[in-house]
Amino acid sequence: MTGKTLPMSEALETYLREVSLREPGILRRLREETAGLPEAQMQIAPEQGQFLNLLVGLLGAKRIIEVGTFTGYSALWMAQALPEDGRLVACDVSEEWTDIARRYWAEAGVAERIDLRLAPALETLEALLEEERGHYDLAFIDADKANYEAYYEACLKLLDSTGLVVIDNTLWSGRVIDPEADDEDTVAIRQFNDKLHADERVDLSLLPLADGLTLARKR
Ligand code: CA
Repeated sequence: MTGKTLPMSEALETYLREVSLREPGILRRLREETAGLPEAQMQIAPEQGQFLNLLVGLLGAKRIIEVGTFTGYSALWMAQALPEDGRLVACDVSEEWTDIARRYWAEAGVAERIDLRLAPALETLEALLEEERGHYDLAFIDADKANYEAYYEACLKLLDSTGLVVIDNTLWSGRVIDPEADDEDTVAIRQFNDKLHADERVDLSLLPLADGLTLARKR
């Protein structure tokens, strides 16, 4: 294969962070606190957070939807790149996890930019669609994999004509190519990737960043 992506060893990833990561102290503390939870593997990598922050600035995004907030690490990275009057709608179902999130958002002074909706995300997205179709610039999806396709479709409708959807875990620890893996999540991600590949409504790029990060921009 030409132009092959480097296999990412632990040592190379450490180097990548050493020479590129600019993680503010508050985000580092949130990441460390989250690392102590049993669900710690659900947290995005810090270089992904920094990349999301960069995307918000590049797009000049003012309105963001996040599907799957967990302890608020990705939302905090993105909210810090929003202008004062920007808004991020954060969807999650866990009060316990988002209590941690709200503590850090308040400390960072961005709580007013984040509108937390504690409900199944599809319900929140449906509610937003009543009045805010086409109003958003960026959507970040990192939640239950079985609903990825439904989240994606709802987010596409909420985005304006050139909005960007970013989707995490699209390489799913490599299970996507394991012929033995037929669990619900793996099957859902495979189907989702195939769908996006054929989706002519968007321009597409799947970055091998952390567990795979797909960017789909409306045409
Ligand atoms: Ca994830």
